[in-house]
Formats: sequence, C-alpha cells, structure tokens
Amino acid sequence: MTDQHDAYVALGSNIGERDVYLHGAIQQLDAHPNITIVKKSSIYETDPVGYTDQAAFLNMVIKLTTTLQPLELLDVLQGIEDTLGRTREVRWGPRTIDLDILLYNKENIKLERLHVPHPRMFERGFVLVPLYEVDQNLQFPNGQDLQHYVRDLTDKEGVRKWKRSSGADESAPFES
Ligand code: ATP
Ligand code: CA
Ligand code: CA
Repeated sequence: MTDQHDAYVALGSNIGERDVYLHGAIQQLDAHPNITIVKKSSIYETDPVGYTDQAAFLNMVIKLTTTLQPLELLDVLQGIEDTLGRTREVRWGPRTIDLDILLYNKENIKLERLHVPHPRMFERGFVLVPLYEVDQNLQFPNGQDLQHYVRDLTDKEGVRKWKRSSGADESAPFES
C-alpha cells in the first residue's frame, strides 16, 4: 500500500465569482485520484493584508490525505491555479485562486519552490481562523499549538464567516 500523508491547504480568491473559484478548486482536488478531501472549513470573507488596495478575499482551509509527495502536491495545486485563470502580476495582488500548502504531515520542508509550514501563516488571521475550525487540536512541527497562535492574533476582526445568499445573485454575511 502507498503511504497516505495529511496535508492542510489554504484557498483564497478575490476576483470575480470568488466562491465559484473556491468550489472549482475543491472539485478538481476531489477528482484527483491521489487526493481525498477529509474536511472543509466554512468560507470566510477577509480584508486584504499586505497589498491592501484590492477587493476583499474569500478564504477557506481544507484538510486532505494524499499519496503525493510535497512537490507533486504543489504541482497539482499550481496546475489547478492555471486552469482557473490565475495570473501573477503583483505579489500578494488580486487573484482568481491561490492554493497554498500550509502543512504536510509534521514535516519541515525548505526547498526553492516549497516552504512548509507556510512561513507567513502564523500571523495571518485569514489562514489561522479557518484552520482552527478544521482542527482545534492541531500542533505544528515546532511543538506549538495552533490554539496559541490563534489566541495571539491581532486581525481576527478582518475575518468574517460568509455565505452566498440562497437564490439571490449577491453575497451576504452569515446571520447568526
Ligand atoms: P504567500 O506565499 O505570501 O501567501 P502568494 O501565495 O501570493 O504569497 P504565489 O505568487 O502564489 O505567492 O507563490 C509564489 C511561489 O511560492 C510559488 O511559485 C511556490 O513555488 C512558492 N511556495 C513556497 N512555499 C509554498 C507553499 N507552502 N505553498 C504554495 N506555494 C509555495
Ligand atoms: Ca498565499
Ligand atoms: Ca500561493
């Protein structure tokens, strides 16, 4: 039997039909013979950080199991970005879809094309909040708890649950 590996992947979109891009990416991952989606977070709407002069993002995190090696998984994710019309103009700029590997088992990976754990995830509310929804007991390779980082987050306000209002053609925040 080929080994199964656990991975967490972050999805983001801030151009056009953002939820269609998220669902399209998930569909392609699900259809991949070597990837099984285990868990999905809710969709969150988040204020842009870094390059702030752009539209709000939809973000989510999924947990998957895969027989792919880390670089093979990255290739699949970048292939999906390409099919969904991702272009790369401004670093951290607008994009139809962004797929990042957050964690791959408990491995530390430092290759030219791939850094895992994703080095900028620890202060990003748009990553940590959905990740926490997927797995509250997660521990990083450095032994720290996800809970610890979520507690220290300063930009939680910029991360709100989102859903598409049923039937209507516009987005609406969750009513809780
Ligand atoms: P950020 O990495 O800060 O979230 P970004 O997602 O906008 O920024 P991209 O332009 O999508 O950055 O990716 C730039 C390069 O980052 C990719 O070509 C890829 O090789 C590399 N990369 C390194 N580590 C990872 C990772 N963990 N997941 C996805 N790509 C990664
Ligand atoms: Ca990213
Ligand atoms: Ca990326």
